[in-house]
This record gives sequence, structure tokens and C-alpha cells, in this order.
Amino acid sequence: MTIVLELDQMMKSLFNDIKFACAKKCPACQKGDLYQKWYSFELYEKCNVCATPLKSQDVGDGAIVILIFILGSTIIPASIMWEFASQPSMWLQGIVWTIVSTALIFGITPIMKAYIMMLQYRHRQSDWV
Ligand SMILES: [Zn+2]
Repeated sequence: MTIVLELDQMMKSLFNDIKFACAKKCPACQKGDLYQKWYSFELYEKCNVCATPLKSQDVGDGAIVILIFILGSTIIPASIMWEFASQPSMWLQGIVWTIVSTALIFGITPIMKAYIMMLQYRHRQSDWV
């Protein structure tokens, strides 16, 4: 019973963390924006609300490595299943998977960076000075 409750709390916490990362807000005040533009990966130098330094905490390629594992384990099997299911032409697969991959990369990378920054703020707060 206790294990089920702990798992339930962990899932709620994970869901809240992902929801917060999707908002792409400052991990300190949870109000200021992280990125200079909604489609950009470029962080503000400091938070507009609480002046917490953001750019010095950029996670760099850390988010991309995780994204490569996620997309590689989903897009490659999906393309193989599509090939076996209906054998579409090569040019169609090239166009579709290029568009899908690009959209997912530009959609998920800012969220993944925000999630990692939130985890760094929570667990290594001494670096955020
Ligand atoms: Zn802030």
C-alpha cells in the first residue's frame, strides 16, 4: 500500500515537473521567461522577474543527448513499421521523416533544456549564484 502511494506521488511530481518545463519559466521564481523568443533555444542573460542568472546555467548539449535517445528509439522503429506495413516510396519517407524529426527536435529541445535546468536548480542550487 505504501509503495503504491509513493509511486502515485512520484508520478504526480513527475507530471508537475514536465508541466513546469513545458511552460519554459525561470526555475527560481517560476514567472520569468527562460527563452528570448518562443521558438528560440537562446536563454535570457538573467530572469526578467527575479534577476537569477540563466545564461550561465545553460545545459548546452545535455538536452540534445537525451533527445537523441528518445527520438532514435521512436522514429526509427516507426519508419521501419511504416516500411513493412505499406512500403511507401523512398522520397515520401524522406520528406515525412525529415519534417517529423525537425518538428520534434525544435518542439522538444526547449522543453528538455527547461526540465534539466529545473533539476539543476533543485539539486545543485549552490551553482546558481
Ligand atoms: Zn526568475
